[in-house]
Amino acid sequence: MSDIKCSNCGRDDNEEKLLKFRHKGKEDYVCVHCLPYFIHG
Ligand SMILES: [Zn+2]
Repeated sequence: MSDIKCSNCGRDDNEEKLLKFRHKGKEDYVCVHCLPYFIHG
C-alpha cells in the first residue's frame, strides 16, 4: 500500500497526477484536480 495520495480527494498517482508539497513541516500530496482549491483556499 502506498500513502502517496491526494490529501483532499484521496486519489492516488495511478488515477491522477500528484504534486508534493510541505505544510507545517509535513510532506503531503495534492492532485492537479484539487490544486486550484488549495491555491484559492
Ligand atoms: Zn485531489
